[in-house]
Amino acid sequence: MTRNPEMAGDSKDDEDITKMEMGKLAHIFMSGASAIILVPDPLNANNDWFEMVKDYASQGTWQTEGSIKEEMPGSNIILANIEIADEILQESGKNLKEIQQEINTSGKPNSFEIEKVTGKIQVTKKIEKVYGENIIAIVEGSDPVLKNECVILTAHYDHVGITGKGEINNGADDNGSGTVALLEIAGAFSKMKKKPRRSIVFAWVTAEEKGLVGSEYYTQNPVFPLKKTVANINLDMVGRSAEKELEKVDNPEKSLAGPNGIYIITGDNSQVLTNVSNKICKKLGLIPSDALTDEFMESSDQYNFYKNGIPVLAVSTGLHEDYHKPGDDFDKIDYHKMKRICDYTFLVVDEIANHKN
Ligand SMILES: [Zn+2]
Repeated sequence: MTRNPEMAGDSKDDEDITKMEMGKLAHIFMSGASAIILVPDPLNANNDWFEMVKDYASQGTWQTEGSIKEEMPGSNIILANIEIADEILQESGKNLKEIQQEINTSGKPNSFEIEKVTGKIQVTKKIEKVYGENIIAIVEGSDPVLKNECVILTAHYDHVGITGKGEINNGADDNGSGTVALLEIAGAFSKMKKKPRRSIVFAWVTAEEKGLVGSEYYTQNPVFPLKKTVANINLDMVGRSAEKELEKVDNPEKSLAGPNGIYIITGDNSQVLTNVSNKICKKLGLIPSDALTDEFMESSDQYNFYKNGIPVLAVSTGLHEDYHKPGDDFDKIDYHKMKRICDYTFLVVDEIANHKN
């Protein structure tokens, strides 16, 4: 764990440190830095945060073919070792270890200009073509006219892969839970004798963790025109429960809902969706909360539909300490809760797909 002035005399957990360090990087870039040379803490062998940035940076950024995305500020972070830092600092008469020692002792930042050193950094960027696949199934509507409209359900099936230390992130909750819930719901609709009036699209989308890429591709290449798409229901992390309900969400990262809790993210762009959702929650004894709307709206696949003006309803049981960590495993899944989320989603979709307008 890296130490810095803000942490002096204070014990903070991993997530706080990550947030703080990311904040610092963002601040440096916003102040006009064209690149950051990041080095590990010379006084601490445990450099988890440095390793995390390394993992993140080595994954690169993804985008769909032909789309133009703004260059991420993080693309100019250069990871270096302590020897390189000492070489740059040489002229100041100090080395990195001494500077870090001063910071640790004083608890204050220690910034100064190194006047006579100029450097040239050459960064080679590699562009690679990666193929991904969205998996799509359709249940055709029973109404001769309304079957040309659809409700689309989405769940991303990718996760964050293997850590730099070689540990496997299984992603049972994120998003094994949404993936299998969607499979169950699709199975239920496909077995119905009388299908709903509108068609239902089931889309297992890829590369959510790389920037919602699969769902972006879908909205650029939809199987039903977006104008005929009446709603998107997205399932992302729907498999966990805390022992009891939260009274209030102070920190979205520790927002795991209790046994009956369910987060619904609609962005209020459809009163019909909200009303139907509330009614079904009441019927099933689920307690809906919109407390994660701000945090979640742009961070999962519903966002690509939302920004195209399509009513969205995203479902989640909230974030927990195993989020994007190897501890997100199947033995922590609350299967009973998942079944209730499947029931909820099925009933909401059935009603929306049959709705009169
Ligand atoms: Zn996810």
